[in-house]
Amino acid sequence: MTDQRMLTGDRPTGKLHLGHYVGSLANRVKLQHQYETFLIIADLHMLTTKNTREDIAQISTNARDMVLDELAAGIDPERSTFYLQSAIPEVSELNTLFQNLVTVPRLERVPSLKDMARDAHKEEMPYGLLGYPVLQAADILCVKSHVVPVGKDNHAHVEVTREIARRFNYLYGDVFPVPDLVESDVPTLVGTDGQGKMSKSIGNVIYLSDSEDEVRKKVAGMYTDPNRVRADIPGTVEGNPVFVYHDVFNDNLAEVEDLKDRYRAGKVGDVEVKDKLAAATNRYLDPMRERRARFAEQSGLVDEIIVEGTERTRREVQQVVFDVRKAMGLTSA
Ligand code: ATP
Ligand code: MG
Repeated sequence: MTDQRMLTGDRPTGKLHLGHYVGSLANRVKLQHQYETFLIIADLHMLTTKNTREDIAQISTNARDMVLDELAAGIDPERSTFYLQSAIPEVSELNTLFQNLVTVPRLERVPSLKDMARDAHKEEMPYGLLGYPVLQAADILCVKSHVVPVGKDNHAHVEVTREIARRFNYLYGDVFPVPDLVESDVPTLVGTDGQGKMSKSIGNVIYLSDSEDEVRKKVAGMYTDPNRVRADIPGTVEGNPVFVYHDVFNDNLAEVEDLKDRYRAGKVGDVEVKDKLAAATNRYLDPMRERRARFAEQSGLVDEIIVEGTERTRREVQQVVFDVRKAMGLTSA
């Protein structure tokens, strides 16, 4: 255990899925033993794409589901601190101060923001969405985090954080570490429809909380090689989502090799490939199901984790904002 910190997290837009797991959560679970860990429930970030009263009314349920998902995935609540972003107003203060350390054209070049503007706002870019990476810099730096494990869509955001940290330190003195991105082995997991990244807004997801039966149904409906209309036609393995998932989730490597060989030769049907994938995915999720059941029966635990974690984080952030004001020479420090 170093005295360094990790910060990462998710927007409370729904339950966590396998994309979140392989893109970021698996690294969180591993790195929590090495770093003091802060896990953000990024509700202010959610507002950049979902901000109706109905969306906002979902935050508390989604936040609880997400924390339970993380505990199920292996996050140890004794080691990691969860917090609700909007309950720490000092984060917004840092966001305001950081807004002058980055230019508009720099933010306009961040690819994920264009994607989000297209999907959520018919190409129109809200001011807050353009500032998404600046707010994320406030999240990462508000606890002086050293490492940030995130999926591919967030890589460019961490780069903006690094630039803001350097710029701040250059202008006002060394306050912030320049945090490192931690990449995952699977930076983007394709969705079950094979069309793009697994994303709950598209609905091409397998949730960490899905039952065995739900997993079987979703896998049975997965996209495969569209040119292979019969089992005796040789199929393509590369880029085929069913085999992408076999590579990521199936612990039986000999089985995967055998299926690939027979698929290429036109000697296996989609049903067998998918049945074996469903079984493998269920084996992958089983330990999470067991942990989930253990945590879920402790009533009030999740609420307590969020409330106490937020209080603790707020105290840390207040100290950092004090350091920031002092370094900048702002009045009340
Ligand atoms: P969704 O698109 O399902 O609503 P999201 O991208 O909005 O999810 P975030 O809360 O923005 O979810 O992301 C949380 C973390 O999960 C980030 O580190 C992100 O990079 C990662 N992530 C999300 N989807 C995937 C995916 N399909 N593959 C890999 N990583 C992912
Ligand atoms: Mg995202």
